[in-house]
This record gives sequence, structure tokens and C-alpha cells, in this order.
Amino acid sequence: MKKMIGQVADAMRNELVALSHRIHDNPELGLQEHRAVQWQSEVLRHHGFEVQTPYGGLDTAYRATFHGKSIGPRVAFLAEYDALPGVGHGCGHNVIAASSVGAGIALALVMDNVGGEVVVIGTPAEETIGGKIILAESGAFDDIDFALMVHPSTTNLVKRGGRAAVSINITYDGRGAHSAEPGDGINALTSLIAAFNGIDAVRQAWSLTERPTINGIITAGGNASNIICDHAAAEFTARADSRCFLKKMIGDVRRVADAGALITGAKLTFMTGLIFAERHPNHVIGDAFKANMESLGEKMNEPDPTMVTGSSDIGNVSLIVPTIHEYLWVAPEGTLEHTIEFCTAAASPRADNVVVLATKGLAMTGYDLLADADLRQQVQAEFVAAGLPDRG
Ligand SMILES: [Zn+2]
Ligand SMILES: [Zn+2]
Repeated sequence: MKKMIGQVADAMRNELVALSHRIHDNPELGLQEHRAVQWQSEVLRHHGFEVQTPYGGLDTAYRATFHGKSIGPRVAFLAEYDALPGVGHGCGHNVIAASSVGAGIALALVMDNVGGEVVVIGTPAEETIGGKIILAESGAFDDIDFALMVHPSTTNLVKRGGRAAVSINITYDGRGAHSAEPGDGINALTSLIAAFNGIDAVRQAWSLTERPTINGIITAGGNASNIICDHAAAEFTARADSRCFLKKMIGDVRRVADAGALITGAKLTFMTGLIFAERHPNHVIGDAFKANMESLGEKMNEPDPTMVTGSSDIGNVSLIVPTIHEYLWVAPEGTLEHTIEFCTAAASPRADNVVVLATKGLAMTGYDLLADADLRQQVQAEFVAAGLPDRG
């Protein structure tokens, strides 16, 4: 069966690479990925999938379904396809879309041998609002048994975690005045600077084992030094190893922001984005994927436990469904993601090979999960032992 999956993936190479390049050459920002959804839907429908879009409350999300010979577990491959402002596909999501569409089709073509369902879920706006967070909250993953995807990178890596993250916006509105008479005004920037200093004070008490970080930029800080600033704003990104600790950090920052308002009397507006949960990679599925990739000649590494990681909305999925989000290299080590260089690499001959390799590895792992009840039980046992789902 796995050999057949490999042959199917090789036969689809031109179609999948064309899909990857089409999305790459026409970058669309989060929630605007209408053409990317249309092109993926066309390919999936052509191969017998039913495609539902919009899905889960998002216009540029989709769900494509293919039924096996009987009722059984549902394996979902997750596609991302949003680009970045200024650098196009600098995160290589075109490779993710083509791989997950490819894996869905390759697995579907052997589904007359096994029970269950193959699903491809299109998850928009990973780079901005975290489309998977909204999909998760709308129940879009509730009937899924396993969620699998691959992200392009500079190294081959399985079973990597991810930290929780949130954006925090702090805005103060005061009253403008001539700087010759500052007492006539309410200086919003004074409150904001106090908030920055206050955050530096409270962060000293944050547990280092949670690896908390917070960084901010001032997005509004007045227009002229001879005018008392009537409006000041900042945006922060906070991260920690768990969403629970992140909630404590948000509480501390809120208290500091209130204190900043008290200093001048400026009016505070405090807003937080959706919380990107920490990632709980399923190691049993990760090991199966690793074995499949190594059978294809790709050496897969495992992360150093002290590795500092970024964040993704896949974390929220990993709380609900046993999940993998593995990495395959498309650019040499040292290449920075979210750059023009990474964007170029995402349509290179290696990236095109990765589309086919990931298609095979994901579909083979999906097949393992559908065909092997013992494996499914081990996956579920790990998921339950980790105290999941917890849903934050
Ligand atoms: Zn990405
Ligand atoms: Zn990215």
C-alpha cells in the first residue's frame, strides 16, 4: 500500500508542484486567500473529494472529504496558504498547501482497502489572527481523530513543541495641549512609558522555567515635541511555555497598564488577541512519520529539549486532537524565515521535491493510522496521559 502511495504521489508531481507555484506566485494575506482556496478546491474535487467552503466561520477555510470503504477513523491533513506582507511566501505556506492536498489525494486513492475518512482542512491566516484558533473554537476539529501537517524549514525535525503566545495592545487617550502649558493637557505618552517600565518591573518575578518573554513597540507616541501627546499606543507580543502562565502574564500587564493610567488620568484601552496555545506534538505519530520519511531517504532529527521555539495556531489543534506538525528543509541552515530568501527557497527545486516527499510521508502515516488499530490505541493513550484535551 505504501509503495502504491509513493507511485501515486510521483504521478501527481506536476499537478502538486504547479499548485505550490501558483500559490507562491500569487501571495494572498490572511483571510484574503480566495484564489488559493479555489485552486486547492479544484484539485481536490478533480480527485473525487467533496469540498465545503467557507468552513468553521471563516470565508477562506475549507473542508474536503473522501470516504473509505466503511465507517472508521478520520485523518485530517491541515493546509496553510497565507502569505506575509512585503515578503510573499516567506514562510513557505505554498509548500504546506500542496503537501496536504497531495497527501489527502494519495491516501484517498488507497481508501478502497481501509475504513475511515480522509479530510483536508484548509486553515487560513496562520500568520495573523491564527485561523486554527477560530476553527478550533467553532468545533471544526471535534470529529477529527488525527491532525497531520508539515512545515518547510531549514532542517528536518520531528516532535518539536511550540510556545504559547498572545498579542497585547495598550492604548492611552489623554488631552493635547501646548507644551508651554503642559498642565493643560493629559500626557498619554507618559502613561505608556510608565507601562513599559512597569512591565520591566513585573517580568522580574516571572518564573524562568516558563521561559516568559515580552517585547513591545510604540505604534503611536505623539506628533511633535511641542504638543502634549493626546494619544499613545503600543503593541506587545508575550510568550511562555504554557497558556496558563501566559494568562498570569496578561493579568500582570493589565495591572501595570491600569497603574499607567492612574499616573496621568489618561483613559486606558487594553486588548488582547486570541491565545496561541503551546504545542503538544504526539510522539507516537511523530515516530511513525519519522520512520516513513527515513524509508524515503530523509534523515529526520529530534529537537534538543532546551530548544527555544516560536508559536503557531497548531498548538490549539494539539489540545483537541492528536497532532503532528513536522519540519522538512527547503533552505540551507542559517536562512531566516519570513524573508525574501526563504520565499525564493519555497519555490526552489528542493521545495518542489519536499512537496512530493511530504505528500508521501503524510499519506503513509495517515495509512498507518487507518490500518493499524494498535497504533491508534498508542496514539490515544499518549494523548490521554498528557492530560489532553484540556482546551485551556
Ligand atoms: Zn509558517
Ligand atoms: Zn510564519
